[in-house]
Amino acid sequence: MNTSASRLESVVREIAEEMRARPDRGEVATYIPELARVDPGAFGLVVIDADGTVAAGGDSDVPFSIQSISKVFTLTLALGMVGDRLWRRVGREPSGSPFNSIVQLEYERGIPRNPFINAGAIAVTDLILSRHKPREALGEILRFMQVLAQDSSIVIDEAVAASEQRTGFRNGALAHYMKSFGVIENPVEYVLGVYFHHCAIAMTCRQLATAGRFLAHAGRDPTTGHSVVPPERARRINAVMLTCGHYDGSGEFAYRVGLPGKSGVGGGILAVAPGKASIAVWSPGLDAAGNSHLGRIALEALTRRLGWSIFGV
Ligand code: GLN
Repeated sequence: MNTSASRLESVVREIAEEMRARPDRGEVATYIPELARVDPGAFGLVVIDADGTVAAGGDSDVPFSIQSISKVFTLTLALGMVGDRLWRRVGREPSGSPFNSIVQLEYERGIPRNPFINAGAIAVTDLILSRHKPREALGEILRFMQVLAQDSSIVIDEAVAASEQRTGFRNGALAHYMKSFGVIENPVEYVLGVYFHHCAIAMTCRQLATAGRFLAHAGRDPTTGHSVVPPERARRINAVMLTCGHYDGSGEFAYRVGLPGKSGVGGGILAVAPGKASIAVWSPGLDAAGNSHLGRIALEALTRRLGWSIFGV
């Protein structure tokens, strides 16, 4: 179904207004103390279609902590560095457990189930780090985001990174546990330092939707013509986003929204409508699985109104 630019703009504005009026917002994450300071009433939504039309609603230009959404981009970078050998270090099956769970690592010899749970993303960060010094690894991740978002002003929120560095004991446990199986190559404190910092990149919905365009368009940004990954790789990253992007809420997200998507505890979600659009939504209140409560509801409304679910109208 083709959606005209004016219809897209009015649907996005409508949904942003409806979401702002809702009393149910979920709970802002507090386990990273700095994230607890975010305004729970914030809401932003940006959709960029194949022609480059940008439909924006609400707080679309307010930066927020992208947190686990960064895992899509570190996966993309690491695949570019080591190719399919990456899958020897991390699986690609849904975990059915919370994002920070440790239990499965014991049964699978320290190999995380997928690159989007914390353990998997820490293992991917380790792969990137093996090819760099810590500062260079972080610089490369940040530059990748800036290039994809076409915005060199994107920065890491140092207060968020420091806050997680002080309190990220569980991620420390995951990393040490994987290290005991030889799954992590580099010193654990370096790996965690890079991981906490890439999670603390701050972006707006507009920047994030721009950065995700290559996933919606067979690996290339249709406006710049810049090829980021081959089409097959974009398709596969989307597949992992669909099955694993919302942790143990991935089934529910596919059922209700019907798009590949990746959430973060900052309340953001990047969603991909293949061939149609890249979508970023932000609402800091989370549901029980740690995914944005209103973000998911907004995306459900969007795909229903536009007929964009990959599973049919
Ligand atoms: N930095 C966060 C953590 O490791 C990311 C988790 C998330 O966004 N789900 O706990």
